[in-house]
Amino acid sequence: MIDTLNIDIKKIAESKISQIDFNNIQFGKTYSDHMFTAEYENGEWKNLRIEPYEPMRISPASPALHYGISIFEGLKAYKDSEGKINIFRADKNYERLNISANRMCMPQLPEQIFFDGLHTLLELDNKWVPDVPGTSLYIRPFIFSNDDYIGIRPSERFKFMIITCPVGAYYAKPVKVKIEDHFVRAVEGGSGYCKTGCNYGPAIYPAKLAQQKGYDQLIWTDGKEHKYIEESGTMNIMFVIDGKLVTPALGDTILNGITRDSVLNVARDWGMDVEERKVPVTEVIAAIKEGRLTEAFGAGTAATIAQIELIGYKGEDFQLPAVETREFSNKVLKELDGIKLGQIEDRFGWVSKI
Ligand SMILES: *Cc1c(COP(=O)(O)O)cnc(C)c1O
Repeated sequence: MIDTLNIDIKKIAESKISQIDFNNIQFGKTYSDHMFTAEYENGEWKNLRIEPYEPMRISPASPALHYGISIFEGLKAYKDSEGKINIFRADKNYERLNISANRMCMPQLPEQIFFDGLHTLLELDNKWVPDVPGTSLYIRPFIFSNDDYIGIRPSERFKFMIITCPVGAYYAKPVKVKIEDHFVRAVEGGSGYCKTGCNYGPAIYPAKLAQQKGYDQLIWTDGKEHKYIEESGTMNIMFVIDGKLVTPALGDTILNGITRDSVLNVARDWGMDVEERKVPVTEVIAAIKEGRLTEAFGAGTAATIAQIELIGYKGEDFQLPAVETREFSNKVLKELDGIKLGQIEDRFGWVSKI
C-alpha cells in the first residue's frame, strides 16, 4: 500500500454553488470551486495543491502560448442513486495523457499524482457532481509548458492541472455533417492521435466555413487523398452498414477514443460483427444511396453518442434514416449510460466509485 500524497488544500472562502441552476447548465461556462495543480521542475513533480479556481500567473514567454506545448484529457464523473461518485474508465485517460506527453516532449505523469489529485479534488467538490438526469461533471486534466523561454526546444518546467465543470446533455440534437475534402485535421507522422492543443485550434476555421453553409460539424478525411473517413469533429465516427458496425481503424491520424473502445466492446459482447478498417467515402455514400447504411454517429465523452442525421458531400446532401429507427446506437447509448450510473452491471470493470 502506498501512502496518499501530500496535497496542500486551500479552500474557497465561499462556495459558488448556490449560483448554479443544475437544470440549466451550459457546457464549459461554469467551473467548480477548486482546481488541482502539480508542478514539474528539475526532474520532479512537486508542489501538489488544491486551491480555489481562479486565473493564474503564467510567463508571457511560455511555449504553451507560443507553440502549443499543451496537452489535455476529458472524462466524466456521475452520481449514482446512492450519491456515490462514479468515474468512467479514468485509467484510459491517464494512459492517453502520457501518450500525448511523450509526443510533446513532456515528462510522464506518475499515476499516483493523477489519481490522488483527481480523487481529492472530487471529494472536495463532491456537491458539484450533479445528479439531474443527463448531467455529469466534466473533468479536464491538462499539462502545459511553464518555461519562461521563447526558444523552440523541449520544455523543462510544466504544470499539471485538473479543473472540472458540471455539464448538461451536450449535442443532444442530431447533427448535420459535411465530409471535408480540402482541409485536414491530421496527417500520417503528425500528432492526430494526441490530445494536444496544436490539433484543435486549426480545425476551427474549416468547421466555421461548414457552419456558414448550414452544417454543424465536419467529417475529416485522410490528409493525402481525402478518400477515407477518419473522424467527425472531435469525435470518432461509426456506421452501421449491412448490419455490421464499421469504424475507421486506429493509426497516428485518429484519436484512440475511450467511447469508441467502449462502444466496440459492447457491440462485440452482444455478438455484433465489428469492422475496424479503412472506410472509403465512396462506400459510405453508396451504402446510403442503396439503403444499406442504417446508422451513423459520433462517439466521444462529451456526447457519448451524437447521432448524424445528414451527410453532405461535394455539394449534395444525403438524409439518413430517422434516429428512432436506429436500433444499435440507441441501445448502446442506454447501455453505457446505465453502466456509468451503476444501473447496469459493470461487467467490463469500467467504473470506479469514490
Ligand atoms: C477526445 C477526442 C475523441 C473522443 O475520445 P473519448 O475518449 O471518447 O472522449 C475523438 N476524437 C478526437 C479528435 C478527440 O479529441
